Order: sequence, then C-alpha cells, then structure tokens
Amino acid sequence: MTVSWLDEFAPRIAALEAQTLLRRRRVVTPLDGARLLVDGEALLSFCSNDYLGLAQDPLLRTAVHAAVDAYGVGAGASPMVSGYSAANAALEDELAQAVGLPRALYFYAGYSTNASVLPALVGPGDALFSDRLNHACLIDGARLSKAKIHRYAHADLAALGRLLAESPACKKLVVSDAVFSMDGDVADIPALLALCEQHDALLMLDDAHGLGVLGPQGRGALAAAGLTGTQASRRVLYMATLGKALGVAGAFVAGDATLIEWLLQTTRSYTYATAAPALLAEAVRAGLRCVLGEDGDHRRTHLRGLIAQLRAGLAPGAHPAIDARGWTLMPSSTPIQPLIIGSNADAMALTQQLRAQGFWVPAIRPPTVPVGTARLRIALSAAHTQDDVRHLLSALYALAQASASAAL
Ligand SMILES: *Cc1c(COP(=O)(O)O)cnc(C)c1O
Repeated sequence: MTVSWLDEFAPRIAALEAQTLLRRRRVVTPLDGARLLVDGEALLSFCSNDYLGLAQDPLLRTAVHAAVDAYGVGAGASPMVSGYSAANAALEDELAQAVGLPRALYFYAGYSTNASVLPALVGPGDALFSDRLNHACLIDGARLSKAKIHRYAHADLAALGRLLAESPACKKLVVSDAVFSMDGDVADIPALLALCEQHDALLMLDDAHGLGVLGPQGRGALAAAGLTGTQASRRVLYMATLGKALGVAGAFVAGDATLIEWLLQTTRSYTYATAAPALLAEAVRAGLRCVLGEDGDHRRTHLRGLIAQLRAGLAPGAHPAIDARGWTLMPSSTPIQPLIIGSNADAMALTQQLRAQGFWVPAIRPPTVPVGTARLRIALSAAHTQDDVRHLLSALYALAQASASAAL
C-alpha cells in the first residue's frame, strides 16, 4: 500500500502542466562563448548569471585540476568537525580583502547562507525590514528567524524610514538585495545606510549580482558606493555568491570580525553542512584573481559596451516596431536587462519564437514579477560578442515587426 496522501501530487502536477506552469530542466552542454547545446540544439544563451564569462575559463579549470591533485575531492565533514582546507582559509582572507571588510566566512551555497544567517542574527521579538523584491532565500531566512517581518515596497526608503521609526523592537535588521535579480536595478546603499544609522539598525546586503561586476576592480556594490573598511563594517553585513560573476559556486558573508565570529559559531548551514571542497575554493580564488586583475577590467569594459549596445538598440525611437509593440527596457545599468513585454502569453510566445531562431532568453512571469509586467530577462555576459547582441536585436526587431503586422 502506498501512502494515501501521496495520491494528491500527480493531479497537482497535471494542474501545473495545464496552466503551462510546469518547469522543465534542459540538459545543456557548453559550446564556445555563450553558446550551449540545449537538448541537442545549439542556442545562444542570454539566461546565465556568468557575467564575466569565467565559468568556462581555462585558468579556473587549471586551478581545479591542481587542487584535486593536492586535496582530493570531498572535504569529509563540517569544518567544525574535520577542519577546513588551507585553500578555504586563504579564500576567506582574500574575499574579505576584496570587498574591503575585516573578515569573511565562506559557505558552500548562497541560498542556505541567507536562509540560516538571518535566524542567527535576529529572533522572536526582533524586527526585520525587507524590500519586497528581495531574493527568495532572504524571504525564507526572514521567516525562519521568527522575527517580526516588515516588508516595504521596492526601493521605497520613505516607507522603510516610517517602519523603522514605528518599530518598538530593540534589534532591527534591514535586509536588501544590492542588485535586484529580476529588475537589474541597484539599491541606494548610502541612503539605506543612513536610515540604518538613524535607527540603529544593521544593514545586510545581498550582492549576488554585483560582486565581480560593480565597483572598482569588480569589488562589488559596497565598494561602488565607496563604503569599505572599519566604518562600513560597523553597520553592514555584506553577503555575495560565488556562482555568478565569479563563475564557480558558493557564497560568503563579510563584515566586522566579531559579527563574523558569531555567525561562524551559530549559523546552522555552516555548522551542519559538509565544508565546501578545496577544489571549489581554489576555483573561486582563481576567479577572484581574474576579477581583481587587468583581465577583469577588460571583461567589465567589454560587458559595459554590450550593455550600452543593447540599451541603445531597444531605446525609444531606435526601432519603430519595438515602439509600436510598447516593449520597454527597464532602467538598469547592470548586465540584467529586463525587456517588459506585458502579458504572460506574449512573453512566452516571444521566448519560443526566439528559441526557434537560436536564442535562449527566459520569460519571467507572475508571481515572480508583478501581473502585467511579464518580461524577457536578458542577461548579458562578457562571453557575448557585439555580433551576438546585434543578432539578438535583429531577431527582436523582426519579431516586433511580425507581431505588429499580425495585430493589424
Ligand atoms: C542566486 C542568488 C542567491 C542564491 O545563491 P546560490 O549560491 O545560487 O544558492 C542568493 N541571493 C541572490 C540575490 C541571488 O541572485
């Protein structure tokens, strides 16, 4: 006999399928640049967060090979039980230095970092303030903390100020993405910090999409705002992931040394998870050397050129068919360039038509984004060429033209 309530899942999956909400994974094999073999079909990808094109880089591959020879593969147990490698230790120092904060703690994944760091900081009776567009793992961490959650409208710092002023809690924590993953906009970090100063709150920033891309030498959103060193570490807990621009996997938090020691002692995803393998730490170290060096500057310069090229090509007045369809780029200076299409059906159709022409551009629909703002989330990478962007623009123009004539 099977468990009776397991019977509910098959019809629920069928219901998802009926609403075209069933998600399918694709088997992908990297080809060159941003090209992938997707279920056997060659596509130019605009859906990866590998913003600097490091995920396939020979320097990172070489670092991994050397690390496997030196350390083997698995770490064996939690760093609290069986220790951590010299590679992991060195990486923490290098990450702290890169973002200009006193100390860092290296985790094996971003999701679990946020889900468990928030409960290590605040609990019942405390207050947590969260931007409505924060990443899912910050929302989950907030819930797990059992602190009182105050959500404010995206980037509405006046609302945040009111909520902070009204809250009677002694411990206040403001949590925000530094770069918002579906809109591509950057939080006003100096203003957030000023509010936190005013109301004695700690500011936690998730810079998953900023590290490697923003700031001098790609040192991230905090450095871009000119906020590093002891002064910043008094108020800011910085978090970033290592699977996006850094090209590998993992995450870290950085900040005041005592705060980081507390997180080392109390964050459950650190204590109760097997340490990140040294081979990954060495890959991240190689990625970080690239990010901070001349190579990183070249990649960022190239990436900025691609962002400008795409934005010019989709700006109002650049092409009559795009204007006629009302497709508009959101105001973003980051590699995340969302093109608002409007209806779910239109966005889905566009994704499919682009795919038929060899482009992989994901449609993002409600509830991930507000109703009526279904969009193509175009992610640019230094692995793209100017021709790649030109071809995407031509395809979008042709599809806008075709759908405009179909609508007549
Ligand atoms: C990707 C992402 C995460 C999760 O990081 P993983 O290492 O992929 O688990 C956390 N926060 C933000 C804002 C992200 O975009």
